[in-house]
Amino acid sequence: MLFNYRIHTFALFAALCCASFSCAHLCAQSLSTQATTRIRLAVVGDFMCHDSQVSAALQKDGSYDYTACYAHIAPLIAKADFAFGNLETVLAGKAQKYTGYPAFNSPDSYAVAIKQAGFDALTTANNHSFDRGYIGIKRTLTVLDSLGIPHTGTTDSQQERSKPLVVNVHGVNVGIIAYTYGLNGGALSGQNRTTVNIVDTTAIRTDIQYLQELPQAERPDIILASLHWGAEYQLQPSPEQRKFADWLFRAGVHALLGAHPHVVQTVENKSVVRVMEGRLDTLQRPAIYSMGNFISGQRTKPRETGVVVWLEIEKSASGGAKIVSLGYTPTYIDKRRNDEGRTEYRVLNVPQAVKEADQNPTLYPANITKRLREILNDIAKQFATQNNSFRLVE
Ligand SMILES: [Zn+2]
Repeated sequence: MLFNYRIHTFALFAALCCASFSCAHLCAQSLSTQATTRIRLAVVGDFMCHDSQVSAALQKDGSYDYTACYAHIAPLIAKADFAFGNLETVLAGKAQKYTGYPAFNSPDSYAVAIKQAGFDALTTANNHSFDRGYIGIKRTLTVLDSLGIPHTGTTDSQQERSKPLVVNVHGVNVGIIAYTYGLNGGALSGQNRTTVNIVDTTAIRTDIQYLQELPQAERPDIILASLHWGAEYQLQPSPEQRKFADWLFRAGVHALLGAHPHVVQTVENKSVVRVMEGRLDTLQRPAIYSMGNFISGQRTKPRETGVVVWLEIEKSASGGAKIVSLGYTPTYIDKRRNDEGRTEYRVLNVPQAVKEADQNPTLYPANITKRLREILNDIAKQFATQNNSFRLVE
């Protein structure tokens, strides 16, 4: 299914430029960029919902409200043309009881708040996808569909796997494929075999081929792979993850965006040699092995940190698209008592919060201000590649 998002081009810039300058060279340049489109994608790690978050969201009237969680971060997400993350819970309905670990089930309003925060899509493949069985899978997708949130990674079909997602963002087609290393509570069997996308080279090749063979109007200009994988709480990716990233890039993936370890892992911007049209080409491919928790009830350092990863993609008039800029914004899951004395979880945009603390030193408790500064440094180290590919986005 192809989803369309707002379309902008540099046409206005080109028109203004030609009106202002008589220089033929400048105008020629402008015309050449007239049909160039640049889009900005924001990607985050896992949206989790532990028991403590369910309790914090419970209102006096018995409803659940998660909108406060994203009040601080939403202005940042609004800067993206398209934003997505991984939904690491299911929406199996109230009758199934709302619980956190080990078998997640969250109120539908959990997804409503994610949408209101500015997220445009969700991947749904992770080790908790099947926490409430087939009913949980099916109802989660029904709720996401009803909210108009595109998704990929799980399906209620018991015949075929989830189709990759293609979204049209400003005229650039972005393909998203999503897989998990496995499931808590064992493997899928029998009629549920197809419902969750499991990491499997044959399946991934099939999905990439499916995308590459779509009619041109729907064919992705860029393919992003969401992998739910890696060892929990490890700050470095394993040799197996590094090797698998190379495989993904050679198979046609443009960027790897992983999660699951609950912490942010060291990133790489890999040089991948590929044979293209009979000649060797070196491609730069970002491997973001784990973006950590975007929101969760986990408090142990550094599980309360995460990151927003930024990808800027430019599509030229001739149709070629490439990633032209990479960025990151560290995030912190703050747990506080709000003005009404209630417990509140909220995702802080760390660079922004540090600036706020500089201007108003009593805005956050001293230990939180200290922690925010630490996070800024720690995440900068995780995003320091040899060629300084990632810039801090505030
Ligand atoms: Zn997980």
